[in-house]
Amino acid sequence: MSIVCVTPVIQGSVFVPCFTALQTHDVRFPTSRTLDGSDAMNPDPDYSAAYLRLLTDAEDGLEGHGFVFTIGRGNDVQVAALRALEGHLAGRDVEATLADLGGMWRELVHDSQLRWLGPEKGIMHMAIGAVVTALWDLRAKREGKPLWQLLASLSPEEIVDLVDFRYLTDALTRDEALEILRAAKPGRAEREARLLAEGYPAYTTTPGWLGYDDDKLARLCREAVADGFTQIKLKVGADLDDDLRRLGIARDACGPDIRIAVDANQRWDVADAIEWMAALRPFGIAWIEEPTSPDDVLGHAAIARAVAPIPVATGEHTANRVLFKQFLQAGALSVLQLDATRVAGVNENIAILLLAAKFGVRVCPHAGGVGLCEAVQHLAMFDYVAVSGSADDRMIEFVDHLHEHFVTPVEVRGGRYFPPGAPGAGTEMRRESIVEYTYG
Ligand SMILES: [Mg+2]
Repeated sequence: MSIVCVTPVIQGSVFVPCFTALQTHDVRFPTSRTLDGSDAMNPDPDYSAAYLRLLTDAEDGLEGHGFVFTIGRGNDVQVAALRALEGHLAGRDVEATLADLGGMWRELVHDSQLRWLGPEKGIMHMAIGAVVTALWDLRAKREGKPLWQLLASLSPEEIVDLVDFRYLTDALTRDEALEILRAAKPGRAEREARLLAEGYPAYTTTPGWLGYDDDKLARLCREAVADGFTQIKLKVGADLDDDLRRLGIARDACGPDIRIAVDANQRWDVADAIEWMAALRPFGIAWIEEPTSPDDVLGHAAIARAVAPIPVATGEHTANRVLFKQFLQAGALSVLQLDATRVAGVNENIAILLLAAKFGVRVCPHAGGVGLCEAVQHLAMFDYVAVSGSADDRMIEFVDHLHEHFVTPVEVRGGRYFPPGAPGAGTEMRRESIVEYTYG
């Protein structure tokens, strides 16, 4: 599907490149066949991408790529939401648009008719995220830099111009954000050098899918440790006896020094979460992730108080920066798991990183899925270099599947992500994979 612009735009005698097409693809991988990605709420996901290519008539031939991760049915609805944004891009001046991505974000998010479908949540908001990410991908390619490095090269003033502080100022003002960014500025070069040399810490969820049998769980735990990971994560919440048995197997296979986080994928009510975690506590739990509804700020706060000192983690289904603000204000999370395709793209995730820095909460991004590792590493690395200035106790999730479908797959060695050097946002899927896995 695509829109086509348009006659070439000439201003005076100068050719002005414009966006000519927004092409969408419904890409689905049949992961339910092997139960990769299975958890207590999502027993048979087919990892999918509502995928977008932004084309221009510029001579460089560069394209911007972005996507929304879904788990199968409904991917076509998400694709339709992408197409609803076509009118904002057709015929637009490429350079002027890319030079003001803060302004572009506001235009998209505050489209008053589309906003009715959220506001600022759900498929329309995620569609905007894919468009925004595709715009950043194109800008990074044009500037010849990986996105993390491009963002980390911007001045504090340029970075805050990307953020819409509407609804945030009771917790974070523009001036406070500037202070955070200015404080981090002197150390940027040193941290960038360290990042390039040492990488960024990762943890792995590969062993922990609920649909794997005990032998596969034990084998994948041993492999994770051998591969250099210091934390793994197990899916829990379907059956307590199974969880106790599987945690025992994992603890035996990993040994006492490896951290084990657990993830209930929203399975419990508040009281269930508290009771269940009391039973799992003896295994030494690194964090409990998504214990209940992702919208239930006060419920998370109650769980956090009851299960302390086990940290509560959430964020992969947190709809926007406003909810993140409330989670932070309420002390409802202590591990913030932002996601590259849940909110409205790079700009909103910068706002979320600034909120986390203001509250002194660590960020451990959600990844896995389709291309989420490739995309979200740029945000964590930008955060380390230019925002929080810290990688202490922080990790990016890693799941070892579907990377081969991306033009620049992640490089994870010794339990660490090594920074991508290729220009772009890491969001470009191989053309052959798009063709092979286009649904229907
Ligand atoms: Mg999770």
